[in-house]
Amino acid sequence: MLSTMQDDQLSLADLLRHGSTLHSESEVVTWTSSGPRRATYGQVGQRAARLANALRGLGVTGDQRVGTFMWNNAEHLEAYLAIPAMGAVLHTLNIRLFPEQLVFVANHAEDHVVIVDGTLVPLFAKQLPQLKTVKHVIVANGDPATLEAPDGVQVHAYDELLAAQPETFDWPVVDERSAAAMCYTSGTTGDPKGVVYSHRSIWLHSMQVCMSDSMRLDQSDKALVIVPMFHAMSWGMPYAAFMVGASMIMPDRFLQPEPIAQILAAERPTFAGAVPTIWQGLLQHLDANPQDISHLREVVVGGSAAPPSMMHAFEERYGVPILHAWGMTETSPLGSVARPPASATGEEAWRYRYTQGRFPASVRARLIGDDGNEVPWDGESVGELEVRGPWIAGGYYGDADPAKFHDGWLRTGDVGKITPNGYLTLTDRAKDVIKSGGEWISSVDLENTVMSHPAVAEAAVIGVPDEKWDERPLVAVVLREGERVTAEELRTFLQDKVAKWQLPEHWTFVEEVPKTSVGKFDKKRLRAAHAEGKLDVAHF
Ligand code: AMP
Repeated sequence: MLSTMQDDQLSLADLLRHGSTLHSESEVVTWTSSGPRRATYGQVGQRAARLANALRGLGVTGDQRVGTFMWNNAEHLEAYLAIPAMGAVLHTLNIRLFPEQLVFVANHAEDHVVIVDGTLVPLFAKQLPQLKTVKHVIVANGDPATLEAPDGVQVHAYDELLAAQPETFDWPVVDERSAAAMCYTSGTTGDPKGVVYSHRSIWLHSMQVCMSDSMRLDQSDKALVIVPMFHAMSWGMPYAAFMVGASMIMPDRFLQPEPIAQILAAERPTFAGAVPTIWQGLLQHLDANPQDISHLREVVVGGSAAPPSMMHAFEERYGVPILHAWGMTETSPLGSVARPPASATGEEAWRYRYTQGRFPASVRARLIGDDGNEVPWDGESVGELEVRGPWIAGGYYGDADPAKFHDGWLRTGDVGKITPNGYLTLTDRAKDVIKSGGEWISSVDLENTVMSHPAVAEAAVIGVPDEKWDERPLVAVVLREGERVTAEELRTFLQDKVAKWQLPEHWTFVEEVPKTSVGKFDKKRLRAAHAEGKLDVAHF
């Protein structure tokens, strides 16, 4: 029997229409070198319509791809809304990709138009001659004359182009399963891989982002969107906030601790999201230059494990709870969120909060052990996490790397355990696991423990070959400014905190842990530096 419900399509055109009319007074604030620049959601809606008209005028039809090479700002939000709503496909280009990767993804996606921020023109210009399908470049917040275009490419000024257009657009009805946006994963191995989101997946994901047990966004919020809009769709915050009328604050290129602290003081956001590296930097800044940040009701941290010491510091020193969450570009990205069960209090609640979190109803999960069989959710058995659901990728664009998917499940490459009530604890990336004498050592646990030492700013742990034990952990430590501590002292500090056999015997002090284009520890580079003998290692 069929239902009697209407078969209405979930579409980003409706999200745009809803946000820009029912929440027309909500605001997007873009930070600039001379302070905030404001636009209402009503104005964003009109400008999105102008942008859609302009793109049609440049020949964008059907599901053609329109790339963005931009910081988080109002114009990027306009592109987020206009491009999918007109039926085209938004392709967020990661401005931190290595040049050859950028060329690869723009050609692979066959971008027809790219919108580029003025400050990023010099970076983009170097690769433009190699972008085979790009016919138009639109420069936002900058002077198009600074971009020397190769033959066959036209350059336009964003504001001028929009000014000449009508402020309404006849948004088409699109199939909810058709492509709305795409994002390439920064890829640990091989070429970057394209994840293509649908109107339906983005709509459902946005609703989940706003749910009480997720990020709880609502119309009273002002969300500081620090996660780049070119990384995993900014964790879904732009669409979710626009859907419910939460105002947004966009930091543009001002991502260092000092300007972030200024933005906090000036705009007093209620919510924010960023990777741990950003919060660690802010914490150091605040400790040296205290200011009230209690207007933040909560901040969400993911992308890498949130160190418990940092979670305590924010809550106990600044009254700001950190919400830990796990996800991937392939999972839109919201996969799990660490809100403790209602019954848990005190230490028990904290233990839940340290985990990567619990899965929402639409994300199904299982753990696969070394023998290829499922392992139980007993809070102890470890396996590779596999997930499925309406906003989880079922393949990559162009069918790249099919081995990441099998019988309808995405293999995450993350290794961990799950409690009977559904809380995930990641112990490692599949490739980062350290196996010592047949026993797993979690590099994440060791990193967190070393980072809880007051003199340590960052610590990254990799497995290095060992004749006797197969692999042993090596710790790369970055000290806080003005602090001094020896490897021996750090080892003593760990002695009553980790099992004796896990105590690392290889230590190195570095100025900086190498980071990937999205700010995560780049263990591949750390391993390579070690293999090439470039690290000065103390052995015990
Ligand atoms: P990306 O697609 O670049 O966002 O990377 C996704 C990967 O980041 C995941 O597969 C995890 O390995 C890692 N990751 C994301 N969130 C967390 C978290 N809360 N704790 C530990 N690792 C995480």
